[in-house]
Amino acid sequence: MGEIWIPEAERLGDGVIAGAGAMDTPNLPPRVVWHTTEGSSGSSAAFHGTADYLMSENYEPHILYDPRTDQLGQFGPLNQSAKALVNAGTVRTNRTGRVCIQIEVMAKAGTPFTSYWKPGKNFAALLRAIRSWGVPDEWPAGRLAQSYSDDSPRPLTIWQTRGGHYGHSNVPGNDHWDPGAIDRAALLAAGTVTPTPEGFTMDAAAEAWFGQLNAMLWGLKNDLAAQQATVASLVKLVAADHDLDVAAVGAAVKKAVTDALAAGTVDVDVTVHDKTTTTPKVS
Ligand SMILES: [Zn+2]
Repeated sequence: MGEIWIPEAERLGDGVIAGAGAMDTPNLPPRVVWHTTEGSSGSSAAFHGTADYLMSENYEPHILYDPRTDQLGQFGPLNQSAKALVNAGTVRTNRTGRVCIQIEVMAKAGTPFTSYWKPGKNFAALLRAIRSWGVPDEWPAGRLAQSYSDDSPRPLTIWQTRGGHYGHSNVPGNDHWDPGAIDRAALLAAGTVTPTPEGFTMDAAAEAWFGQLNAMLWGLKNDLAAQQATVASLVKLVAADHDLDVAAVGAAVKKAVTDALAAGTVDVDVTVHDKTTTTPKVS
């Protein structure tokens, strides 16, 4: 089961989208549709004004997002339909798929928002919630419309068989060209930023340990067995020093070193937790 309400999102309205409800075809793959509001942005007043307008027109998406401020709001549960699409004949596009998560970005199709936006932790939360439903990082209909007069692909067969991300300009039966020529790769990459754990400062002992590890691995860069032995002994030392779980430290270090070797470097970046909490102790 995916995330139905995004914890980071402000609730907009009463939590019920009028006229929305269960998906028609929950056995079909999950998808997302990106829209732009074509109005102003950049302030809380604009955010709530836009939300009120969408509700008064009964044209609600699930999500409202301001790309200038990273403000995120949610109108209704992600596992039900929203109201920002028109049907494609008998196919109720709002209700196609396991989920059909609709996002109104406060921007104009004529000025792609990925050219100036500042995605932050709320955008990362949005992509996390999207992926929690199994939506693949793909654009199955292909390219987005580049202008009002651009006939972008809107293949009904793809819509009914493929999950992933669609622009409103890719949805069959619809004629809008939003969200414009946004950078599709940048959009999906923005969610991969991991926020720094709050309130953590590395103590001197940890700092010294990581320095020692880095230096030793660098010295042994061509000798995998020596690296493994070094890491194993260091893991035991640091676990004892900090009252940590040896297996957990070992797994974290092993992954970091494996990644580092694959990348051809010996930069090591690990996060470990103590035995009783999930608060990172060393990062
Ligand atoms: Zn739209």
